[in-house]
Amino acid sequence: MNPLETSISPSVLDHISDPDLLRKSSFVRGEWSATGPKFDVTNPTTGKVVACVSGSNVSDAKSAIFAAQAALQEWRKLHAKARSHLLRAWFELIEEHAEDLAKILSAEQGKPLREARSEVTYGGSFVEWYAEESKRLNGELLPAFETGRQLMALRQPIGVCAAITPWNFPIAMITRKVAPALAAGCTVIVKPAEQTPLSALALVELARRAGIPAGVFNVLAADGPSSVAIGRELCESPIVRHLSFTGSTAVGKLLMAQCAPTVKKLALELGGNAPFIVFDDADLPSAVAGAIASKFRNAGQTCVCANRIYVQTGLHDAFLSLLVQEVKKLKMGNPFEAETTIGPLIDADSALKVQRFVDDAVSQGATAVTGGTPEAGTFYPPTVLQNVNERMLCMREETFGPLAPISRFDTEEDVIRLANAGDSGLAAYVYTKDIARIFRIAETLECGMLGVNASLISSEHVPFGGIKQSGLGREGGRVGLDEYTEIKYLCLGGL
Ligand code: ADP
Repeated sequence: MNPLETSISPSVLDHISDPDLLRKSSFVRGEWSATGPKFDVTNPTTGKVVACVSGSNVSDAKSAIFAAQAALQEWRKLHAKARSHLLRAWFELIEEHAEDLAKILSAEQGKPLREARSEVTYGGSFVEWYAEESKRLNGELLPAFETGRQLMALRQPIGVCAAITPWNFPIAMITRKVAPALAAGCTVIVKPAEQTPLSALALVELARRAGIPAGVFNVLAADGPSSVAIGRELCESPIVRHLSFTGSTAVGKLLMAQCAPTVKKLALELGGNAPFIVFDDADLPSAVAGAIASKFRNAGQTCVCANRIYVQTGLHDAFLSLLVQEVKKLKMGNPFEAETTIGPLIDADSALKVQRFVDDAVSQGATAVTGGTPEAGTFYPPTVLQNVNERMLCMREETFGPLAPISRFDTEEDVIRLANAGDSGLAAYVYTKDIARIFRIAETLECGMLGVNASLISSEHVPFGGIKQSGLGREGGRVGLDEYTEIKYLCLGGL
């Protein structure tokens, strides 16, 4: 029995101000419908059922694909300003209903309510940004290579797009894909994670209210097994021209293979193993604050979380001692209580995984300076390990939990070699005051995103994504819109 269960209202969602946001079936062709198996959405904090959702199956996926194909004809013809106004209206509704969205998100995902509020703001910012950016989808006029010709490059929507999204950011991972797709004139089918369909359904309900036409934005809620079948259908359909996926590297590779026969354009945002590097000359309080924010946000369940922390020998002991002091101030508990800074993990298996990583490290000589002992169920206390080495699981693989392994290094060369080892290359963080070193490291670290003396680095207008096996393509900003367009070259002769 979860020790926190008794302190949590079983009916947190009874008190949202707009109960119509709580939708419990898929949304296809502008209608709420589903023909697949029902499944429960549970609150990771209590294990209690938040809602029973009527799931989708492959036939719903086929309907959604046809609906998106039919809607594409009108949607792509709509002029950019009209699409911009509809996206803006959706953004304003997200803002207006932010508190309800945050409660739904927190109830099904488990992150502290204040983090859920930040995610709603962050998620909404993509809709706002792409509402504007849709008006700047410019093509290009090119110089002619013969007289009597005009050459141009048209930017056109890629067509019907699919998005498969994860549970750790149930709102932002959808808006980051759907907003640029709609802005470009594409239509979309979203298959949200089985753990967090309610946020996705609330978002599409708001898009419906904003006036986004039927078939333009479809959501297929589905349980685990149906998700696999729907995913296959979306990948194999020749009508779907683009797949955007955020999730594990293993599933990303599988989807990539499934998309090969139809040569789909792919955007993949996969797992990371972010190094967090602190040099002797770093500002200690800001490095520690950065490590706490990067490591323990969403209980360590973000793909850009610091996964392995390297501290140069001269600062190691001071960093460790201040970090432990700050970690002890974190308050684990009910996400709906104002002082909570760490909620539960998404499920009990995730907590067991953290424990497995701790046990593995301890069996090889690491020690837990704080934490390291499991709580009941889905909760795992924030944990700091010292004396870790590169053979340990916690340094080689993404923990996706509140575990901070601290490793000591001597030289810049050593730490770059360690940081670049392995197949992933998503985010990395460096704390130093040496400007020459900053530029050397920016050149040599193998990652798609680098925070220098900064640990919360994402925003709607910057490119988010990874290199190596952390993925393909970028989301956010101007390049995030390019993802959903094709270039058509037009050569006008006889002029
Ligand atoms: P995690 O391990 O963090 O849950 P996953 O990669 O398993 O990450 O899940 C991310 C998303 O991918 C979810 O929407 C999930 O339903 C979906 N998914 C998982 N496995 C498959 C699969 N075999 N085919 C299609 N979608 C899948």
